[in-house]
Amino acid sequence: MAILPLEVSLVVKYITSEEFKAFSKEVAKNLNVDDLFSSVEYQRTFEKYPHKQNSLAFTIFSPNYKSFQDVYFNTKKIASETDVLYKKHRDLEKEYVLKVLVDFLLIHELTHVSQFKNKDFEMYTYNPPSNSRDYENNEFEVKANDTAYDYLKDRSNCTKKY
Ligand SMILES: [Zn+2]
Repeated sequence: MAILPLEVSLVVKYITSEEFKAFSKEVAKNLNVDDLFSSVEYQRTFEKYPHKQNSLAFTIFSPNYKSFQDVYFNTKKIASETDVLYKKHRDLEKEYVLKVLVDFLLIHELTHVSQFKNKDFEMYTYNPPSNSRDYENNEFEVKANDTAYDYLKDRSNCTKKY
C-alpha cells in the first residue's frame, strides 16, 4: 500500500499550534534562553535564505553573531524528512513522528542559542567547518544533537540519527 506524502500544511499546523508554543516556552526556560527566545517563525526558507534550503531548521543571528534573531523551520523539507523517518518507524503514527522531529529541531536550535548566549559560538564563527562532514561532527552540532536526544529519549528514539 502506497503511503501518501505528508502535507506541508500539517507541518505548519503543528508549528503554529498552542501545543508547540507551550513546548517551545518550556524548552527555552530549561535551556535558560527564555530571555532571548520568544517566538517561532516558519517559512519556505529557499525564498529568503537560499543557502539554507537543505537545512530542516536553522537559527539566524545578526551579522558577526552580535545578536540572536529567530529560529526558522523549513516546512517543505520537514515534511519530506518526516516521510523518510516514518518509513523506519511504521509502528508510530506519522503525525507523532512529525511532532518528535519538529520538537527535536527546536531543541537543537535553542541549544545553539544557548551556545551563543554563553559565547561559545565565537570560536565557531572564526573557524567555520569546511565541509558538511566536518560540520556535522563539530562540537556545537554534536552538543545540539545530544541535548535534543537526551531531552526526548524517554518519549521516542525516532530522531536519534540527527
Ligand atoms: Zn545545528
